[in-house]
Amino acid sequence: MTDTAAQEISGHARSVACDGGGGPLGHPKVFLELDKDGKVCCPYCSRRYALDADGRIVEVTA
Ligand SMILES: [Zn+2]
Repeated sequence: MTDTAAQEISGHARSVACDGGGGPLGHPKVFLELDKDGKVCCPYCSRRYALDADGRIVEVTA
């Protein structure tokens, strides 16, 4: 599970890779599938991701 090329994010992609930001606070990279509202919360590091207005998946910092 080292090659991530098959999970390229595009307009139709509904998953995002999260590794917790790497470093000592990171975790093994996982792919998170967005729910029907276009949002997901990482079970490892509690980062939240959502679709922005352009349909890209971005980290929610608020
Ligand atoms: Zn994470």
